Amino acid sequence: MAYWNVLPAVETLAERLAAVRARIGTAAERARRDPAEITLLAVTKVFPAAAIRDAYALGLREFGENYVQEFAGKAAEVRDLGGARFHLIGHLQSNKSNQAAELFDCIQTVDSPKLARRLESAGRKLEVMLEVKLSGETAKSGADPAALPELIAAVRECPHLTLSGLMTMPPWSDDPEAARPHFRRLRELAERHGLSGLSMGMSHDLETAIEEGATCVRVGTALFGARRKA
Ligand SMILES: *Cc1c(COP(=O)(O)O)cnc(C)c1O
Repeated sequence: MAYWNVLPAVETLAERLAAVRARIGTAAERARRDPAEITLLAVTKVFPAAAIRDAYALGLREFGENYVQEFAGKAAEVRDLGGARFHLIGHLQSNKSNQAAELFDCIQTVDSPKLARRLESAGRKLEVMLEVKLSGETAKSGADPAALPELIAAVRECPHLTLSGLMTMPPWSDDPEAARPHFRRLRELAERHGLSGLSMGMSHDLETAIEEGATCVRVGTALFGARRKA
Protein backbone atom coordinates (compact mmCIF):
# COMPACT_ATOMS: atom_id res chain seq x y z
CA MET A 1 0.00 0.00 0.00
CA ALA A 2 1.41 3.40 -0.96
CA TYR A 3 1.79 5.90 1.82
CA TRP A 4 -0.82 8.28 0.44
CA ASN A 5 -3.38 5.49 0.65
CA VAL A 6 -3.23 5.56 4.43
CA LEU A 7 -3.60 9.31 4.69
CA PRO A 8 -7.08 9.78 6.09
CA ALA A 9 -9.62 10.15 3.31
CA VAL A 10 -12.48 10.61 5.75
CA GLU A 11 -13.26 13.56 7.92
CA THR A 12 -13.80 12.61 11.53
CA LEU A 13 -11.46 11.04 14.03
CA ALA A 14 -14.15 8.44 14.77
CA GLU A 15 -14.16 7.37 11.11
CA ARG A 16 -10.38 7.30 10.91
CA LEU A 17 -10.19 5.26 14.10
CA ALA A 18 -12.73 2.80 12.73
CA ALA A 19 -10.62 2.48 9.57
CA VAL A 20 -7.43 1.82 11.57
CA ARG A 21 -9.19 -0.72 13.77
CA ALA A 22 -10.48 -2.46 10.65
CA ARG A 23 -6.95 -2.62 9.24
CA ILE A 24 -5.68 -4.09 12.52
CA GLY A 25 -8.53 -6.59 12.54
CA THR A 26 -7.94 -7.71 8.97
CA ALA A 27 -4.19 -8.07 9.47
CA ALA A 28 -4.69 -9.99 12.72
CA GLU A 29 -7.13 -12.33 11.06
CA ARG A 30 -4.73 -12.97 8.19
CA ALA A 31 -2.01 -13.74 10.73
CA ARG A 32 -4.40 -15.87 12.82
CA ARG A 33 -3.91 -13.58 15.79
CA ASP A 34 -6.33 -12.16 18.32
CA PRO A 35 -6.64 -8.39 17.64
CA ALA A 36 -7.19 -7.89 21.37
CA GLU A 37 -3.51 -8.64 21.95
CA ILE A 38 -2.46 -5.70 19.75
CA THR A 39 -2.38 -2.30 21.43
CA LEU A 40 -3.18 0.69 19.29
CA LEU A 41 -0.87 3.45 20.48
CA ALA A 42 -2.21 6.82 19.32
CA VAL A 43 0.77 8.99 18.40
CA THR A 44 -0.17 12.57 19.20
CA LYS A 45 3.14 14.40 18.70
CA VAL A 46 2.73 17.87 17.20
CA PHE A 47 -1.04 17.77 17.86
CA PRO A 48 -2.54 19.68 20.79
CA ALA A 49 -3.86 18.16 24.01
CA ALA A 50 -7.35 18.39 22.48
CA ALA A 51 -6.38 15.58 20.09
CA ILE A 52 -5.59 13.34 23.06
CA ARG A 53 -8.90 14.24 24.70
CA ASP A 54 -10.84 13.52 21.49
CA ALA A 55 -9.14 10.16 21.07
CA TYR A 56 -9.77 9.32 24.73
CA ALA A 57 -13.46 10.11 24.30
CA LEU A 58 -13.51 7.50 21.50
CA GLY A 59 -12.05 4.87 23.81
CA LEU A 60 -8.31 5.10 23.17
CA ARG A 61 -6.20 4.80 26.32
CA GLU A 62 -2.58 4.46 25.17
CA PHE A 63 -0.84 7.52 23.76
CA GLY A 64 2.61 8.07 22.29
CA GLU A 65 4.61 11.28 22.37
CA ASN A 66 8.09 11.93 20.97
CA TYR A 67 9.39 14.89 22.90
CA VAL A 68 9.56 15.31 26.67
CA GLN A 69 9.36 19.08 26.36
CA GLU A 70 6.34 19.04 24.10
CA PHE A 71 4.40 16.65 26.31
CA ALA A 72 5.32 18.65 29.41
CA GLY A 73 3.28 21.45 27.87
CA LYS A 74 0.22 19.26 27.34
CA ALA A 75 0.31 17.04 30.42
CA ALA A 76 -1.73 19.33 32.67
CA GLU A 77 -4.57 19.28 30.15
CA VAL A 78 -4.80 15.48 30.09
CA ARG A 79 -4.05 14.61 33.70
CA ASP A 80 -7.74 14.04 34.52
CA LEU A 81 -8.14 11.29 31.88
CA GLY A 82 -8.44 8.26 34.13
CA GLY A 83 -6.76 5.12 32.81
CA ALA A 84 -4.91 6.96 30.06
CA ARG A 85 -1.28 5.88 29.70
CA PHE A 86 1.47 7.85 28.05
CA HIS A 87 4.45 6.33 26.26
CA LEU A 88 7.61 8.14 25.28
CA ILE A 89 8.53 6.89 21.81
CA GLY A 90 11.19 9.46 20.90
CA HIS A 91 14.83 9.47 21.90
CA LEU A 92 15.44 10.33 25.55
CA GLN A 93 18.55 12.22 26.62
CA SER A 94 19.63 11.14 30.07
CA ASN A 95 19.52 14.73 31.37
CA LYS A 96 15.74 14.65 30.78
CA SER A 97 15.20 11.29 32.43
CA ASN A 98 13.77 12.64 35.69
CA GLN A 99 11.21 14.75 33.90
CA ALA A 100 10.36 11.85 31.57
CA ALA A 101 9.87 9.51 34.53
CA GLU A 102 7.37 11.94 36.00
CA LEU A 103 5.42 12.51 32.82
CA PHE A 104 5.28 9.07 31.24
CA ASP A 105 4.04 5.62 32.22
CA CYS A 106 6.20 3.79 29.70
CA ILE A 107 9.53 4.69 28.13
CA GLN A 108 9.83 2.72 24.88
CA THR A 109 13.23 4.11 23.93
CA VAL A 110 15.64 2.90 26.59
CA ASP A 111 18.86 2.19 24.73
CA SER A 112 21.68 2.24 27.29
CA PRO A 113 22.39 0.94 30.79
CA LYS A 114 23.16 4.51 31.82
CA LEU A 115 19.72 5.70 30.78
CA ALA A 116 18.10 2.76 32.59
CA ARG A 117 19.95 3.66 35.80
CA ARG A 118 18.97 7.33 35.45
CA LEU A 119 15.31 6.35 35.10
CA GLU A 120 15.61 4.01 38.06
CA SER A 121 16.98 6.78 40.22
CA ALA A 122 13.87 8.88 39.52
CA GLY A 123 12.17 6.49 41.94
CA ARG A 124 8.93 5.97 40.02
CA LYS A 125 7.50 2.69 38.77
CA LEU A 126 7.91 2.63 35.01
CA GLU A 127 7.30 0.23 32.19
CA VAL A 128 10.23 0.24 29.77
CA MET A 129 10.95 -1.13 26.34
CA LEU A 130 14.36 -1.31 24.71
CA GLU A 131 14.79 0.50 21.44
CA VAL A 132 16.84 -1.59 19.04
CA LYS A 133 18.74 -0.21 16.08
CA LEU A 134 18.48 -2.68 13.23
CA SER A 135 19.79 -0.63 10.35
CA GLY A 136 23.36 0.34 11.19
CA GLU A 137 23.69 3.48 9.08
CA THR A 138 21.09 6.19 9.50
CA ALA A 139 19.44 5.52 12.87
CA LYS A 140 20.99 7.66 15.56
CA SER A 141 19.29 6.07 18.53
CA GLY A 142 18.63 2.53 19.63
CA ALA A 143 20.83 -0.17 21.08
CA ASP A 144 22.93 -2.45 18.93
CA PRO A 145 21.45 -5.98 19.00
CA ALA A 146 24.80 -7.23 20.31
CA ALA A 147 24.47 -4.93 23.32
CA LEU A 148 21.05 -6.31 24.32
CA PRO A 149 22.20 -8.92 26.88
CA GLU A 150 24.05 -6.27 28.86
CA LEU A 151 21.19 -3.78 28.55
CA ILE A 152 18.58 -6.33 29.61
CA ALA A 153 20.68 -7.30 32.62
CA ALA A 154 21.04 -3.62 33.59
CA VAL A 155 17.28 -3.01 33.40
CA ARG A 156 16.53 -6.16 35.40
CA GLU A 157 18.71 -4.79 38.19
CA CYS A 158 16.41 -1.75 38.43
CA PRO A 159 13.52 -2.54 40.80
CA HIS A 160 11.37 0.37 39.61
CA LEU A 161 11.59 -0.66 35.96
CA THR A 162 9.46 -3.38 34.40
CA LEU A 163 10.85 -4.57 31.09
CA SER A 164 8.02 -5.39 28.69
CA GLY A 165 9.71 -5.81 25.33
CA LEU A 166 11.53 -4.34 22.34
CA MET A 167 10.78 -1.41 20.08
CA THR A 168 12.17 -0.45 16.69
CA MET A 169 11.82 2.16 14.00
CA PRO A 170 13.07 0.86 10.64
CA PRO A 171 14.55 3.23 8.06
CA TRP A 172 11.81 5.14 6.31
CA SER A 173 10.39 3.60 3.16
CA ASP A 174 7.01 4.07 1.57
CA ASP A 175 7.01 0.37 0.75
CA PRO A 176 5.66 -1.43 3.83
CA GLU A 177 7.38 -4.64 2.72
CA ALA A 178 10.76 -2.96 3.18
CA ALA A 179 10.25 -3.05 6.95
CA ARG A 180 9.42 -6.75 7.12
CA PRO A 181 12.97 -8.07 7.64
CA HIS A 182 13.48 -5.55 10.45
CA PHE A 183 10.23 -6.53 12.14
CA ARG A 184 11.12 -10.19 11.82
CA ARG A 185 14.56 -9.57 13.26
CA LEU A 186 13.06 -7.72 16.22
CA ARG A 187 10.75 -10.64 16.94
CA GLU A 188 13.65 -13.10 16.78
CA LEU A 189 15.64 -10.95 19.21
CA ALA A 190 12.69 -10.74 21.59
CA GLU A 191 12.20 -14.50 21.49
CA ARG A 192 15.87 -15.12 22.09
CA HIS A 193 15.76 -12.93 25.18
CA GLY A 194 12.41 -14.15 26.49
CA LEU A 195 10.56 -10.86 25.95
CA SER A 196 6.97 -10.75 24.75
CA GLY A 197 6.26 -7.12 23.83
CA LEU A 198 7.01 -5.89 20.30
CA SER A 199 6.41 -2.22 19.52
CA MET A 200 6.69 -1.93 15.75
CA GLY A 201 4.64 -0.69 12.83
CA MET A 202 3.22 2.75 12.05
CA SER A 203 0.49 4.17 9.84
CA HIS A 204 1.82 2.83 6.57
CA ASP A 205 3.17 -0.56 7.64
CA LEU A 206 1.08 -1.72 10.57
CA GLU A 207 -0.21 -4.74 8.64
CA THR A 208 3.33 -5.96 8.00
CA ALA A 209 4.19 -5.43 11.67
CA ILE A 210 1.13 -7.34 12.86
CA GLU A 211 1.95 -10.22 10.53
CA GLU A 212 5.42 -10.31 12.10
CA GLY A 213 4.10 -10.30 15.66
CA ALA A 214 3.66 -6.67 16.77
CA THR A 215 1.90 -6.28 20.12
CA CYS A 216 1.88 -2.47 19.88
CA VAL A 217 1.43 -0.45 16.69
CA ARG A 218 2.23 3.26 16.88
CA VAL A 219 -0.17 5.20 14.69
CA GLY A 220 -0.20 8.95 14.14
CA THR A 221 -0.97 10.05 10.59
CA ALA A 222 -3.74 7.53 9.90
CA LEU A 223 -5.63 8.81 12.96
CA PHE A 224 -4.87 12.50 13.18
CA GLY A 225 -3.84 13.44 9.64
CA ALA A 226 -0.57 14.67 8.21
CA ARG A 227 1.67 16.55 10.61
CA ARG A 228 3.03 19.93 9.72
CA LYS A 229 6.82 19.85 9.66
CA ALA A 230 8.13 20.56 13.15
C1 LIG B 1 5.79 9.73 14.59
C2 LIG B 1 6.08 8.34 15.01
C3 LIG B 1 5.14 7.31 14.78
C4 LIG B 1 3.84 7.50 14.03
O1 LIG B 1 4.10 7.62 12.66
P1 LIG B 1 2.89 7.73 11.61
O2 LIG B 1 3.54 7.42 10.32
O3 LIG B 1 2.40 9.14 11.68
O4 LIG B 1 1.85 6.76 12.01
C5 LIG B 1 5.45 6.05 15.28
N1 LIG B 1 6.60 5.81 15.94
C6 LIG B 1 7.52 6.76 16.15
C7 LIG B 1 8.76 6.42 16.89
C8 LIG B 1 7.29 8.05 15.68
O5 LIG B 1 8.23 8.98 15.89
